[in-house]
Amino acid sequence: MAEQFDAVIIGGGPGGYNAAIRLGQLGLKTACVDRRGRFGGTCLNVGCIPSKALLHASERFDEASREFAKLGIKAEVSLDLNAMMAHKDKVVGELTKGVEFLLKKNKAEAVVGEARIASPGKVEVKAAGGTLRTLETKNIIIATGSDVMPLPGVTIDEGQIVSSTGALALKSVPKRLLVVGGGYIGLELGSVWRRLGSDVLVVEFLDRITPGLDGEIGKHFQRILQKQGIKFQLSTKVVGVEKIAGALRVSLEAAAGGDRHTVETDVMLVSIGRRPYTDGLGLDKAGVALDGRGRVVTDAHYRTNVAGIWAIGDCREGPMLAHKAEDEAVACAERIAGRAGHVNYDAIPAVVYTAPEVASVGKTEEELKVVGVAYKVGKFPFTANARAKTIAATEGFAKILADAKTDRVLGVHILGAEAGTMISEAALAIEFGASSEDIARTSHPHPTLSEAVRQAAMGVEGWTMQM
Ligand SMILES: Cc1cc2nc3c(=O)[nH]c(=O)nc-3n(C[C@H](O)[C@H](O)[C@H](O)COP(=O)(O)OP(=O)(O)OC[C@H]3O[C@@H](n4cnc5c(N)ncnc54)[C@H](O)[C@@H]3O)c2cc1C
Repeated sequence: MAEQFDAVIIGGGPGGYNAAIRLGQLGLKTACVDRRGRFGGTCLNVGCIPSKALLHASERFDEASREFAKLGIKAEVSLDLNAMMAHKDKVVGELTKGVEFLLKKNKAEAVVGEARIASPGKVEVKAAGGTLRTLETKNIIIATGSDVMPLPGVTIDEGQIVSSTGALALKSVPKRLLVVGGGYIGLELGSVWRRLGSDVLVVEFLDRITPGLDGEIGKHFQRILQKQGIKFQLSTKVVGVEKIAGALRVSLEAAAGGDRHTVETDVMLVSIGRRPYTDGLGLDKAGVALDGRGRVVTDAHYRTNVAGIWAIGDCREGPMLAHKAEDEAVACAERIAGRAGHVNYDAIPAVVYTAPEVASVGKTEEELKVVGVAYKVGKFPFTANARAKTIAATEGFAKILADAKTDRVLGVHILGAEAGTMISEAALAIEFGASSEDIARTSHPHPTLSEAVRQAAMGVEGWTMQM
């Protein structure tokens, strides 16, 4: 017999599980279905969390190997990759259990199985053993996330030719790693394996890495990564790969076409992006519209074209980021409960967790030029920041873009240690419609890296004091 719910969510990632928690808080009877068996989606299982565990561990390894001596610490350093992976797996295990606890705490039922929309208002869930459950509901939220974008002609085997999932679980440090794609996932995982000893080459189709980033920040970032030993071939495409005695021979060609050449590598990471995932959901039959890129089409309130079916997170438009999925989850749940949830897409930060980190929120200089908004720029380098000196992390700078007429903060871009933490201040400033002067006149604790953000804000009106 069919079971009755107010809302059934398909997908237990940051979109799905946060929607379930919020719906539970608002008193709606909710089920959250995921086929993975462990909740938390891509983010907790094979994305944000395992990558950050390896980034942290490999950064400490690199630091201990190269930097400790400068601080007067003598250490014999060696790598135990199995233990490093065990740390990552432990963190993932604890956090995914934590999500199950949160679902339970908020009275949302966690259902394990493959879900399909049988018809609007009806979700069928097939458990691993084949048992079928029918969940009837007033609201279905599609939160099925995204999957690795395949590279035409290349078969991922998660051993030698890996996606990010395989790159998070390599059994040994490859001597050579070729990363296809200079986006944040490729650069983060490239950094992990470079620090652990791989010779890393990044091949990027475009003429720059991290295309969404502010151009000036992107150029400095690339220079820093090069100094660390990562090599780049820009404006280049991978056109084929062949397995040769224990290695790979990869054929490359100029992006615009031209002569081919080959490079050999031990492991190739395909990280050219992610695509929305809605396979097997029955969207055709239910009549749910997709756009040309396979994303579920919704209005500004996450309603699809079919009454009672909603979509959030990576499977719809917008940046594929965990906190964006979470923000949409809250807004969508509140809409379902008759409240006025809303997401400000101008205030969603993005972070690359390399060392140094890169973080940004709001508009880049390039975007402001395109729309013809007059802006002022304030910048401050970490070489002039006291805390950065004390922790020997002086690379990079903070940059603030403010409206030339109103001084309203339009964009903040930080390249430097802890940039990902510092960007929250900027996101709050944009959310509150703050001016650069508001940041400049706000007391910032000394000595902290965040003082660089304040000094950059002072720079918008030309009164940077500590440089
Ligand atoms: C290597 C890597 C690193 C990343 N690092 C970051 C980061 O540092 N910060 C950040 O913000 N983002 C990061 N991301 C992106 C982030 O993981 C995603 O944006 C986020 O997980 C999207 O959440 P979601 O809920 O929309 O979908 P997902 O997390 O993808 O969850 C969707 C879930 O739906 C389930 N599902 C799909 N179809 C069905 C079905 N028919 N029945 C049942 N279940 C189904 C899937 O099993 C999956 O668990 C990273 C991604 C990767 C791959």
